[in-house]
Amino acid sequence: MMENSLWKEVREEIDKVQIVDTHEHLGKELPIFRPSKKIKLNLMRFIAYSYLYGDLVSSGMKPIALNRLAWEDIKPYLESVRTTVYYKYLIKALQDFYGLEGDQITDSNWEIISKRITEKNENHVEWELQVLDLMNIHRMILEISEKCVLKTDIVDDERLVQIINFEELIMGGLTTAKKLIHSSAENFDEYLNALDIAFDMAVENGAIGVKSSLAYLRIISYDKVEKSEAQKIFNNGIRRATPTELKKFQDFMMHVVCEKCTEFKLPYEFHTGLHAGNFNTLKNSDPLLLENLFRDYRKVNFVLFHGGYPYLQEVGVLAKYFPNVYLDACWLSDISISSYKRALSEWLEIVPSNKIFAWGGDQMLIEHSYASLLLAKDLIADVLVDKINSGYFNQNLAISVMKKILGQNAINLYRL
Ligand SMILES: [Zn+2]
Repeated sequence: MMENSLWKEVREEIDKVQIVDTHEHLGKELPIFRPSKKIKLNLMRFIAYSYLYGDLVSSGMKPIALNRLAWEDIKPYLESVRTTVYYKYLIKALQDFYGLEGDQITDSNWEIISKRITEKNENHVEWELQVLDLMNIHRMILEISEKCVLKTDIVDDERLVQIINFEELIMGGLTTAKKLIHSSAENFDEYLNALDIAFDMAVENGAIGVKSSLAYLRIISYDKVEKSEAQKIFNNGIRRATPTELKKFQDFMMHVVCEKCTEFKLPYEFHTGLHAGNFNTLKNSDPLLLENLFRDYRKVNFVLFHGGYPYLQEVGVLAKYFPNVYLDACWLSDISISSYKRALSEWLEIVPSNKIFAWGGDQMLIEHSYASLLLAKDLIADVLVDKINSGYFNQNLAISVMKKILGQNAINLYRL
């Protein structure tokens, strides 16, 4: 961070912007924003539901069920993860909200911090909305849909909007289809009807976009498959399909979802690059695998998440090539601050500025989103000041670009 007077000026301008937080999971695993449900939070859950859990496992901790994580489990590994960004912004949240002094959780402070977290979250909805105010949020885009249906029990607040995830139906989810059409799908057309119903319901309930997290489960290459072939696989029994058949079936379904996105004019967001947690397969999430979809569905606006980290340059080229490809740096600032700055700086040089979204928290807890936003704002100031100092941007251009990448671009794309 370069805290000179220009930096401070830019940073103050950033604070004035009403932020569009392009991606959050708040409310997915824990009942955030849900007035009818209690949230039980303590320090261990605060850590379990953060990305730091993955780094703890990476440093040697045995993977433990999130709800059973105990102080003795994490204690031996904290020193090793003290250098990662996941640790840094978690600590920032504990310092700002729960009175942590210094940057270490220890035998002598963890219990009092834990107690403060529990107390603060007693009236959790009130607290969550208070933090939204602090963050100066214009809109927060939530991904919390379940079984292809939007969650509707969240607090009524115009700042909270949702996108929908159809991956269960893409994967061949017969149980999900049954729930949607109220009987077992007897044939493939009935199965496809479940997707129609899910789309209609989602749009009616205010879905502003569609998301795919399939990179967590399979390779994100989607070949063009004839309907007759998918139908044959369905008729032979999805549950008996070989891995090759299953891929073909899912590939077909992905193309159907892209067609539906064209019909409903909904942006389609894709997880690309690094996966949360451990043990996944990076090459499954290479954003270059999606090129055929960009070509085949030119009326669909595709949003590539997380800057495709580590494929940062590749996504830059994709967004440069294709008018319908957008870049979302959500989560990236919490993965690597140097990569985030490098990516943002480079994208601003190669990609038109209407197609870049600079921040989304991608968190499960509001305190983590808050700390993530503070960090991202500092990094954006660093990048812009660099550009101003080198003469590449003048200050006015830097400020107007900043307003776009933190708010207006998402307002335009998602019609917020
Ligand atoms: Zn996410």
